[in-house]
Amino acid sequence: MKKINIAIDGFSSSGKSTIAKGLAKKIGYIYIDSGAMYRAVSLFAIRNGWISDSAIDEKALESQVPDICISFKTNAQGQQETYLNSENVEKEIRNLKVADGASRVSTIGFVRRELVRQQQAMGKEKGVVMDGRDIGTVVFPDAELKIYVNASPEIRAKRRFDELTAKGENVSYADVLANVKERDERDTTRSESPLRKAVDAVELDNSRMGMDEQLQWAFDLFYKATAT
Ligand code: C5P
Repeated sequence: MKKINIAIDGFSSSGKSTIAKGLAKKIGYIYIDSGAMYRAVSLFAIRNGWISDSAIDEKALESQVPDICISFKTNAQGQQETYLNSENVEKEIRNLKVADGASRVSTIGFVRRELVRQQQAMGKEKGVVMDGRDIGTVVFPDAELKIYVNASPEIRAKRRFDELTAKGENVSYADVLANVKERDERDTTRSESPLRKAVDAVELDNSRMGMDEQLQWAFDLFYKATAT
């Protein structure tokens, strides 16, 4: 069976990472969460005081970008965790402030170029399932299987709200929905690699689909893509 790369793109909280993780596990591929990499850069910039409500100190960030080392390690429970310069930041990168910063730093050309370079290196040997916004269009334009995941903003906000409250975060549904819509707007309108469906991607609207059904759907596509 030939080894391929699988690109899974979609809006925030569309469930793409759950499908990507589940599929990677089922087929024995490496899963890479490209959003976590933008979140790690956001955290780095926040900690250095380079992100304010109105602006990002791009000059300071640009001078440090080559020193930001992002990697992934699997923990004892088999879950992947994100490391920023050898520090486990998995928990910290999941809050709304870091998410908002990630959506902003991801509009900057030099940040995207550096992360895309790292992502392409990770997929060089194939056997990777990577999720994000520009994986099928920019990172792996030659990926043998591309999936574009979609669901309504309200359904996605409800998923994110449930996730955050389960983790004990004190957020309101209205704030989460506003954040989801704001990030959608930025993701689709930015000039650098905006989110769009690759022409050869297969679309999945999972608004009314359970996880098992989605996983089977993705597995069938994988099977077809590798059988030829
Ligand atoms: O997927 P996740 O919500 O963790 O991504 C965090 C942010 O990083 C998103 O809001 C999106 O703007 C950005 N991103 C991106 N390109 C990717 C992955 C994420 O611009 N490939």
